[in-house]
Amino acid sequence: MALRTSQAEVRMKNRSELRPVLLAVVLYGSLELLVTLISLYTRPPGSLVGVFRSVDTIPSHLFLLALGGVALGLLSGLAFRRLDLGLVLLILSVVVLTDLDHLPSALGIDQPIRPTHSLIFIAVAFVLVATVIRRLDLSFAVMSGFFAHLAVDTGLFPPFSPVSFNYYSLGNYQLVLIALALSSALAAGYLSKRRTITVKY
Ligand SMILES: [Zn+2]
Repeated sequence: MALRTSQAEVRMKNRSELRPVLLAVVLYGSLELLVTLISLYTRPPGSLVGVFRSVDTIPSHLFLLALGGVALGLLSGLAFRRLDLGLVLLILSVVVLTDLDHLPSALGIDQPIRPTHSLIFIAVAFVLVATVIRRLDLSFAVMSGFFAHLAVDTGLFPPFSPVSFNYYSLGNYQLVLIALALSSALAAGYLSKRRTITVKY
């Protein structure tokens, strides 16, 4: 009986640990769709229009992104000797969800290229997760997934979308993007571990 109670407690604890992570995933996905929608109206007429990636390359691209996301989550756990599956799940989700901004072109609607692959977007997402969920470790996990995605993508990006649609190639900054993804994952892992220690004592 006592064992059953403790198992129930563990289940409840796991569920309450997972809830803020799922909320962060929903917030990020919603912000993706909102900024994509805004960009349809704020892009200047005649600005570059995105073309949807050919369908047969999508699975391999997504797989590569997902693999990078899982690797970052595991690394943050390894570095601080505490595997946080919530962080792994969040980084993985953000890495994949960042391409939700291709939705209009998938639906045949003219849209600017990569409207959410922008510094303004990640700044808003970081602050949103930090203020709504009040978990800085989750904000850093979001940032890690975002920069990992940018490091894998190639081509043109609008760093100040949806305010400005000037496009730049980030090819020269790939190492910077990887360093940002790694350091954000480590910050997330550190804050997550510190949080559990604070909760325990
Ligand atoms: Zn992308």
